[in-house]
Amino acid sequence: MVSQTLFYSTNGQAPLANLREALLRGQAPDRGLYMPVEIPRLPREEIAAMANLPYHEIALTVLRHYTTGVVDETKLSALCKDAYQFDVPLEHVGQHTWVMRLDRGPTASFKDFAARLMARMLGLFVVQENRPLTILTATSGDTGSAVASAFAGVPGIRVVVLFPEHEVSRLQRKQMTTLGGNIRTVAVAGKFDDCQAMVKRAFADPSLGHLSLTSANSINIGRLLPQIVYYYYAASRVAEPGASLVFSVPSGNFGNMMGAVLGWRMGLPIKRLVVAVNANDEFPRMLKTGTYEKIEPSRHCLSNAMNVGHPSNLARLVALYGGRMDETGVLGSKPDFDAMRKDIFSTSVSDEQTRETIKFTWTQHRLLLEPHGAVAWRGFEEYLSIEPPDRSPVVVLETAHPAKFPEEIQRCLGFSPDPPPCLRAVENLPEQFDRLPSDQNVFREYLLDTFGPHV
Ligand SMILES: *Cc1c(COP(=O)(O)O)cnc(C)c1O
Repeated sequence: MVSQTLFYSTNGQAPLANLREALLRGQAPDRGLYMPVEIPRLPREEIAAMANLPYHEIALTVLRHYTTGVVDETKLSALCKDAYQFDVPLEHVGQHTWVMRLDRGPTASFKDFAARLMARMLGLFVVQENRPLTILTATSGDTGSAVASAFAGVPGIRVVVLFPEHEVSRLQRKQMTTLGGNIRTVAVAGKFDDCQAMVKRAFADPSLGHLSLTSANSINIGRLLPQIVYYYYAASRVAEPGASLVFSVPSGNFGNMMGAVLGWRMGLPIKRLVVAVNANDEFPRMLKTGTYEKIEPSRHCLSNAMNVGHPSNLARLVALYGGRMDETGVLGSKPDFDAMRKDIFSTSVSDEQTRETIKFTWTQHRLLLEPHGAVAWRGFEEYLSIEPPDRSPVVVLETAHPAKFPEEIQRCLGFSPDPPPCLRAVENLPEQFDRLPSDQNVFREYLLDTFGPHV
């Protein structure tokens, strides 16, 4: 029998789970996050062969190492093919520099990559259960629309998306409030962190146990694994086999950067990872000082999908470097900070620098970036100032379509980008959403009213 990949909880108090269990639960019962006990290594030939494969086959090559014994390989192949039917452009900017545009999915954000595959895998698992699954998710901008779009119409699954009333753009809101059907959206009078706290408490609430709540946030391992794939894809397109690359990742809740770190441990040669954050600078400060202080409340920045004062996935990074961090951000034991610093360069980028970068890359390179991609670009520039360029290819990740930020681009560049068809389509659809205060009791009653009390 081929062995399954098993997952442990970063809090160390929960039994091991296989992928199916980990996906259905989202968070481990001890409130930790699932991580693979053993990270599979990809044979070098398998990585080299990716140069000739389309994206969805690279996804299969990477992900089958995690799905053995849980999802049949022919099935996984079909899911990947169905999930990834859009382009992944690598825009060549300078000699050794590329921008990878992860914005061509149906909601024009990189979160489509993870959400679409996870929805398909969960759809498969839920058929084997005989009660509906309720996905609860908090969004600071793009998760909600990607998750809502990915799950729309999946039988046996209903979705509730919580978003901070004043922290998402009109377009981001429209992308999730116009779907209807099995998708419900709730505007919370609060910040993203409040939404996230409400979701986390609901998971821990025994009076909601009968609803089979699970998360589609990046705390779900099913959201993380698909985010390994595009790092392999980029390497297969811009680097000689075996050559190591630099990636610059605009980071908020750290799911994206964890995809890179896992890919690295699976055998992808990475020289250094640049983790670029906005004014929520808890991570670069932790790297520098060796102590962790979350930012409460999180700071509101232009790159609004990265306004996270305590990244959930940080616990995973800490675990990989031998430490332990609980869900509240307490470092039970310190990770190997020296090793972490050697692998990761992290820097904080202000809103002013973000705007400068949008202007600079446009005038200098005719490269159009939105605020998140601009943070990554600026992070990469800071990295160059401490690490002189060599011949290693650099890939900067652009995580949303510039047309999702028309006011900001207009302000910086004097024009507003053409929206892609998927964004134009939602413009005229009617919106439907509920409003709630940031209050756990009210939220509990809402869920019970909507889906029925325990019988
Ligand atoms: C979510 C998001 C990010 C941050 O990704 P994390 O995985 O949370 O670090 C960056 N850019 C955009 C556009 C996003 O939607």
